[in-house]
Amino acid sequence: MGTDARRHITIIGAGLAGALLATLMARAGWRVNVHEKRGDPRVKGYEGGRSINLALAERGRHALRMADADTAVMRQAVMMRGRMVHALDGRQQLQRYGRDDSEVIWSIHRGDLNITLLDLAEQAGAHLHFHHRLEGVDFDAHVARFVDDRDGRRIECPFSALVGADGAGSSLRAAMQAREDLGERTEFLDHAYKELEIPPAADGGFIMEPHALHIWPRGHYMCIALPNDERTFTVTLFLPNEGDPSFASVRTGGEAKALFLRDFPDAVPLIPELEQDWEANPVGLLATLYLDRWHLRGQAVLLGDAAHAMVPFHGQGMNCAFEDCVALARHLQATDDLATAFAAFEAERKPDALAIQQMALENYVEMRDKVDDQGFLLQRELELALQQRHPGRFVPHYTMVSFMRIPYSLARHRSELQRDLLVRHTQGRATLEGLDWTAVDADVMATLTPLEEIPG
Ligand SMILES: Cc1cc2nc3c(=O)[nH]c(=O)nc-3n(C[C@H](O)[C@H](O)[C@H](O)COP(=O)(O)OP(=O)(O)OC[C@H]3O[C@@H](n4cnc5c(N)ncnc54)[C@H](O)[C@@H]3O)c2cc1C
Repeated sequence: MGTDARRHITIIGAGLAGALLATLMARAGWRVNVHEKRGDPRVKGYEGGRSINLALAERGRHALRMADADTAVMRQAVMMRGRMVHALDGRQQLQRYGRDDSEVIWSIHRGDLNITLLDLAEQAGAHLHFHHRLEGVDFDAHVARFVDDRDGRRIECPFSALVGADGAGSSLRAAMQAREDLGERTEFLDHAYKELEIPPAADGGFIMEPHALHIWPRGHYMCIALPNDERTFTVTLFLPNEGDPSFASVRTGGEAKALFLRDFPDAVPLIPELEQDWEANPVGLLATLYLDRWHLRGQAVLLGDAAHAMVPFHGQGMNCAFEDCVALARHLQATDDLATAFAAFEAERKPDALAIQQMALENYVEMRDKVDDQGFLLQRELELALQQRHPGRFVPHYTMVSFMRIPYSLARHRSELQRDLLVRHTQGRATLEGLDWTAVDADVMATLTPLEEIPG
């Protein structure tokens, strides 16, 4: 396919969304330049620094398929069938996410994924410029200014349109905001996180069940662990910033070990370097970013974390960013007018980003406090029964978010209706025995219409 000179975009950030969008647009015949502040991870190793692995779900996989990237990415993925809940006494219970192995999520390594996508972007014809940190934008002259942080060298690049895929701390967003008010608001969570590592077992294999997302729910806080292809697990401890225990009260490696011995005792022998990891790894902040506007006419648009960073508790930030890429590529192909494309993209995606941001906040309470609660487990039992009695009509919340591609806003709306229904019919009960199924079925029929997946 030949390159149309008018069809040119400059992407800021070669992270997950930037690299995927570059692939999609270059394959569609666009001239694509990507500017990334860090060095090329294929040359000097990945310097990601946070969330070493990520849960990939259907929305993300679909976007990868659109770029013919799915096969390469899935070679390094580890299947996670459900949550393995670790009780304080060491008992473990697997709660499946879906009906069978067709409804699972996948753990992938951020660095490997990024490298795979960069290779594909380059093969598709995108031009990648590393060590180019966006510093400022002259929107009148259509010139973007970059700095090479190794030597302070300044570089100026003309652009037709800019796409901000430069993450939660987006410099393009700051440049746009300086030009026109985007209505930016950041709400920090009063909890943060720290990552630790579980190495392989002595025989080189996984030391615990690999095909699960492990959770140690402890009420106001929790630990999780996701498997890595190289037989390790990345552990993430989520704690409040203040109080007891918190990142304010647990400061040293020794204090962290004491916390683990008290609250996560079965994890302690699995993390031999707990104290060293604790001292060496930073505390990561968590926030939700809201914007009233994602674009400046036809000059610049934001996507992924740059537009709508969210807390990680639904494992959907990257999945949502990948959906953004497919949507923006579709709108850019549908019209020659960039302002029209950016406005249509924002109108389509903003309500869905807001919905998943809210569901991610809600899911923190579910993960840390509910997964071992009897009332919650009974609701889950009823949910599974109703899924079987009303296939395509009563679709569990997790299924709508993780295994389907219906808009997040629709998933949230239906989840709220369903949650109310589950509470109505389980309240005051210890089991489902003696439930009036005729009344429940009638309630389902009156409350929910059939749900159709998006084709293609
Ligand atoms: C602890 C944690 C766990 C998570 N777990 C999951 C999960 O399980 N599943 C999931 O779907 N999501 C998860 N996420 C969310 C996911 O990490 C993000 O949503 C995703 O990385 C967003 O991709 P992005 O491309 O928009 O931004 P990023 O991945 O942050 O990429 C931004 C890129 O822009 C570059 N950049 C930044 N500033 C500049 C500049 N001035 N000039 C040039 N380049 C610049 C950066 O170097 C980077 O390469 C998690 C997040 C956290 C914090």
